[in-house]
Amino acid sequence: RRNLYNLLVITSVSGGGLLAFANNNPARTAYADAAGGAHIRRKKVVVLGTGWAGTSFLKGLKDPSLDVEIVSPRNYFAFTPLLPSVTNGTVEARSIVEPIRNIVRKKQFDVQFREAECYKIDTKNKKVHCKSTQQNNVGGSDEFTVDYDYLVIAMGARSNTFNTPGVVEHTHFLKEIEDAQKIRKTVIDCFEKASLPNISEEERKRILHFVVVGGGPTGVEFAAELHDFVIEDLAKLYPDLKSYVTITLLEAGDHILNMFDKRITQFAEDKFRRDGLDLKVGSMVTKVTDKEICTKERATGKNVSIPYGMVVWSTGIGTRPVVMDFMKQIGQTNRRVLATDEWLRVEGCEDIYALGDCATIDQRKVMEDIASIFTKADKNNTGKLKADDFNEVINDITERYPQVVIHLKKQQVKNFLQLLKNAQGEDELDIEKFKLALSAVDAQMKNLPATAQVAAQQGSYLADCFNRMNDCEKNPEGPLRFRGSGRHRFKAFRYKHLGQFAPLGGEQTAAQLPGDWVSIGHSTQWLWYSVYASKLVSWRTRALVISDWGRRFIFGRDSSKI
Ligand code: FAD
Repeated sequence: RRNLYNLLVITSVSGGGLLAFANNNPARTAYADAAGGAHIRRKKVVVLGTGWAGTSFLKGLKDPSLDVEIVSPRNYFAFTPLLPSVTNGTVEARSIVEPIRNIVRKKQFDVQFREAECYKIDTKNKKVHCKSTQQNNVGGSDEFTVDYDYLVIAMGARSNTFNTPGVVEHTHFLKEIEDAQKIRKTVIDCFEKASLPNISEEERKRILHFVVVGGGPTGVEFAAELHDFVIEDLAKLYPDLKSYVTITLLEAGDHILNMFDKRITQFAEDKFRRDGLDLKVGSMVTKVTDKEICTKERATGKNVSIPYGMVVWSTGIGTRPVVMDFMKQIGQTNRRVLATDEWLRVEGCEDIYALGDCATIDQRKVMEDIASIFTKADKNNTGKLKADDFNEVINDITERYPQVVIHLKKQQVKNFLQLLKNAQGEDELDIEKFKLALSAVDAQMKNLPATAQVAAQQGSYLADCFNRMNDCEKNPEGPLRFRGSGRHRFKAFRYKHLGQFAPLGGEQTAAQLPGDWVSIGHSTQWLWYSVYASKLVSWRTRALVISDWGRRFIFGRDSSKI
């Protein structure tokens, strides 16, 4: 039916005949209006990235009048929360990926996928420059450009090394599917190497010393998965080597999982110590060589060299070079990630959106605007705000900047303002003092976390905005424009935190759910299984992952080095 529709459109575009086409497929660039009359140029949406943000945007997009082109070096979506399970074979790599062409196959609009990476964004000519990532590119140039009307940047981030010498050369990252597969092979490789004859005791200990750098959720989960693999599977297959194995977790801060509730941190630290993992906090890695990892211990000030067999580096995320280059181009220097407004538009670029790990909402600007809301509310220019106007201002802030309210929590904002008000007398608020206090709050404000949850919600929010673009153009539903008149087309993005998990191994998981509700233990592990099974992107991956879990329960993990 779609072909027939395309044919009709082509016929109307070319005035009755299938004449010379201006591009590969003119039906992609134009479509007839509802009455079948004048043809309207399709708006071209280019999506960079097929991760959480990009895929959730594509899944939510429904507007048939769009022409969509996706550029990504990966032709699949990967379910990253299960990557640590791939490192030990609990789950197979293929079970957690879904081809992007499968995901967009049933879309009502035209979608093209290009397996390539974008290396430059040209905002002046509205083009992205891309380079094919395929090996053995057959003939022709492997570089091309793509024009856009709207650009959606969802390129995620890369692993952050903090420029520590030797990290790129000697450690493993855990970011992509290939990383997890490489780690799995290396672990088994270490055991096989340590089984060879003529290896000294000291060398055997070194080879079987696994070091994890970074006590965030990924590092902790990987250390726990590795421990399970060693205890439950490898110890049976290599019984003579069990006593040589050490797993060390290095964390530069005072505690692991420091973004979680203290009860979870405490439980995790106690569990790891009970399980025999060597947990070192206050330990900052300064250098990695091919056989040793060097640290500076905060407590003693000493430099320590630790021999290792494998290091996994998991210390957070950094900016991709192409994003950095784009930030320079648009004057967003000295930032870690792209700054957007509350509608996920890149600041200063009208038709470019950025979401997921490569972007964040610019809190400083939001704070400036909030300060101005107060100034505006002071209609008589007295420098004071009457108590009567107070609630109105709070509502205005809540509507305009739901993100700020999420961070500070609504009650906190109220308490903070109330405090200021009380300090200054019964019914008036001094605006200058308020601004001062606000800048103190500003310094404490945190960006949204770089998680799949944020990326996915931003993707669906943006898709919803695109789907209703024409309606909202006519009937804007957002808050009043701060600069200029009228309302914004859309409501601002609002993140809904659904809680987070920290799997700790031994069939135990910690969960911090909304309302700071904490749950830890075996029952939470079952909650983890059910949540992640339900969140998988397709029925195919769901079936594969569940069968992998079942296989692991019955037969254990596979230790073949393939
Ligand atoms: P990504 O998902 O990284 O996607 C980026 C996309 O951009 C990829 O398709 C990539 O190929 C593509 N790309 C890269 N460079 C280019 C280029 N030059 N041109 C075009 N495309 C490009 N979050 C949670 O909420 N819960 C969890 O349990 C959890 N566990 C995690 C476990 C691990 C091991 C890791 C690594 C992350 C985990 N996260 C988790 C974080 C989560 O994966 C990220 O926050 C999320 O992937 C961010 O989504 P994104 O779309 O911004 O980036």
